Amino acid sequence: MSNVLEINDLVVSYRTARGHLTAVDGISLHLAPGETLGLVGESGCGKSSLGKAIVQLVEPSAGSIRVEGHDLSTRSRAERRALRPKIQMVFQDPMGALDPRQQAGTILETPLKLHGLRDAAARRARVATLMEQVGLRPEFIDRLPHEFSGGQRQRLGIARALALNPSVIVCDEPVSALDVSLQAQVLNLLRRVQQAQKVSYLFISHDLSVVEHIADRVAIMYLGKIVEVAPRSALWRTPAHPYTRALIEALPRTDPARHRIADKQVIGGDLPSPYNPPAGCRLHTRCPLAFARCAVEEPKLATIGDGHSVACHLHDAAVAKAA
Ligand code: SF4
Ligand code: MG
Repeated sequence: MSNVLEINDLVVSYRTARGHLTAVDGISLHLAPGETLGLVGESGCGKSSLGKAIVQLVEPSAGSIRVEGHDLSTRSRAERRALRPKIQMVFQDPMGALDPRQQAGTILETPLKLHGLRDAAARRARVATLMEQVGLRPEFIDRLPHEFSGGQRQRLGIARALALNPSVIVCDEPVSALDVSLQAQVLNLLRRVQQAQKVSYLFISHDLSVVEHIADRVAIMYLGKIVEVAPRSALWRTPAHPYTRALIEALPRTDPARHRIADKQVIGGDLPSPYNPPAGCRLHTRCPLAFARCAVEEPKLATIGDGHSVACHLHDAAVAKAA
């Protein structure tokens, strides 16, 4: 089957009090059925804006998003609304994403009602199935969000995302607010759900080590751009972009053999303002390997291996060989 999600040259920009901000600057990505793509970058790099555009919470300024082959940019408002159930979102803060006055049962029933499941008994049965699927006990159905623990609330958020049988779930930092012990439980739940119903995930995180446990492929984002995409194993074994290498270097070493990178690279300093990103390669103000060309010419994302692309002038020779 072809891709469930295809994004091409997507641009998301905002007018804010501080000026014009291009949060997503020409990104192309795809998701195969049942696949998990990890999207990793520092906070403020535009990951959430990309996620929100995909679930139609913000309107892109340019580019296209195709959901199961349907290009959202060419569809009517009604057609776009009809496609919305196909792509759902799980948020970082389940408390903020759930109506505090609604009981769990109502939270799960609402999308079913909105999207035309008229039979009340069928809705109740579906709610029971969803709760069971995410490991919430049936008697929790009358609980309000604040009566759940953080981990249970995230289970409820996942159940709501699953209610309409989506083909894609955008998981925006879904475990960042949880204790480490709960993180593993929620990640395992997401994995089980994926095996059971072949849903695809765009899994957004600032933490490469979280993504390592769930992603089939990983995309690294820096200041609105994708700088590297690779199958998970290639990203760990042969990270090509200086920024990716620095992210891997920065991880705590539980397995010292795994992350050994010969020419250790450290990215110092803070993320430059996305309101005024550096010219040329956006990393050049922080990159230890930057040379003259980096400040004036933007590197394009180019293929260096099977499913492995990188945007860095250092790899031009490898790109020329692969072409
Ligand atoms: Fe560093 Fe230059 Fe590569 Fe950018 S293009 S990552 S500045 S070496
Ligand atoms: Mg975010």
